Amino acid sequence: MTNKNETLFNRAQKTTPGGVNSPVRAFRSVGGTPRFITRAEGPYFWDADDRRYIDYIGSWGPAIVGHAHPQVVSAVQVAAARGLSFGAPTEGEVLMAEEICKLVPGVEQVRLVSSGTEATMSALRLARGATKRDKIIKFEGCYHGHADSLLVKAGSGLLTFGNPTSAGVPEDFSKHTLVLDYNNCEQLEEVFQSIGDQIACVIVEPIAGNMNLIRATPAFLETMRRLCSAHGSVLIFDEVMCGFRVGLHGAQALYQVQADIVCMGKVIGGGLPVAAFGGRADLMGHMAPLGGVYQAGTLSGNPVAVAAGMTTLKIIQEDGFYETLSAQTRKLVDGLAAAAKEAGVTFCADAVGGMFGLYFAAKVPTSYAEMMASDKEKFNRFFHLMLDAGVYLAPSAFEAGFVSIQHDDAIVDATIAAAMQAFAQL
Ligand SMILES: *Cc1c(COP(=O)(O)O)cnc(C)c1O
Repeated sequence: MTNKNETLFNRAQKTTPGGVNSPVRAFRSVGGTPRFITRAEGPYFWDADDRRYIDYIGSWGPAIVGHAHPQVVSAVQVAAARGLSFGAPTEGEVLMAEEICKLVPGVEQVRLVSSGTEATMSALRLARGATKRDKIIKFEGCYHGHADSLLVKAGSGLLTFGNPTSAGVPEDFSKHTLVLDYNNCEQLEEVFQSIGDQIACVIVEPIAGNMNLIRATPAFLETMRRLCSAHGSVLIFDEVMCGFRVGLHGAQALYQVQADIVCMGKVIGGGLPVAAFGGRADLMGHMAPLGGVYQAGTLSGNPVAVAAGMTTLKIIQEDGFYETLSAQTRKLVDGLAAAAKEAGVTFCADAVGGMFGLYFAAKVPTSYAEMMASDKEKFNRFFHLMLDAGVYLAPSAFEAGFVSIQHDDAIVDATIAAAMQAFAQL
């Protein structure tokens, strides 16, 4: 049935490691053959065998207005016809920076880059350059892109620095990264008490979306804000995933906690490569050409990508956008939870804005360890039953899901109907 997908996957594996250009696409976690996508529209995409799926990954977040939105496509076409890249500044970049500064609390200046990885990597360099300190704190289960000092897992004790999670990362890099438990305020207090004056920054996903969806507790974010301020450390919110996804002003507005630097990506490119980091003007003033922290990019602020991003940022500001998006996402997760209950399957779900988590567990997890304890095998079977029914969920039990504004009642109802059948077969 998935003949062309299989043929393409076999061919792909000859010339591309594992057949994919980003590991999660390979279906290693759930097994089976990845679908090769040929086109997408609204809430749907189609694979190489022309099978249609309701899409719940939305390019892992960017497709918040739905795929191939006519306004976004048209903006890209107009920009492309004027030239693809100049290596000199454009008005579009000015407008985009102004828009981001207007929408994201505490951001007075922003620099555009091409990927979330670049944004977080540059934010860390800025924090280290501004504080003249080397050590950083991150939390287990948070993903911040694949820069060397972030591919690190916890060491053996509270104050031992981390070990690389990837081959090719020198221990000399990972030794500056301390990995703590998400939502654990006591640990954070203890660490700051002993070595607070050595910490350049704390980087966190204020609503975690890379260990499935896990919300920070208000106390957790408030504690890190207070400790960073008291010790002169920089607080970095990595909102590459949750920014413009959980609400128009991101997690900072939901929690009323302001970071010193905010990283953005995914939604702000509307499907093309735009990411950004920004913060107070005095901090951003450390960036070259003003200051000594170097960072650059040939395609940074690319005019075609900025056109897609700006158009997306305009659409999400239309009246009622987030109310509708949140209501549809809530309807989806409530419907899925009710269907599981009816079938007697241990399952729960959560949603913030247009982002959701599905857990084969009795209660919504609050940490990486709790998330890892959920029933991965059950998820994998559920994933394939849903895929067969034409619903494309994230191909891993440990990833969040994404709804677009084009996921209307009919789409959500069809998804819940498919899930009822799937749960009954588990
Ligand atoms: C996706 C993601 C990144 C990395 O972004 P890329 O564009 O894939 O490099 C960083 N941080 C978070 C929170 C993300 O979700």
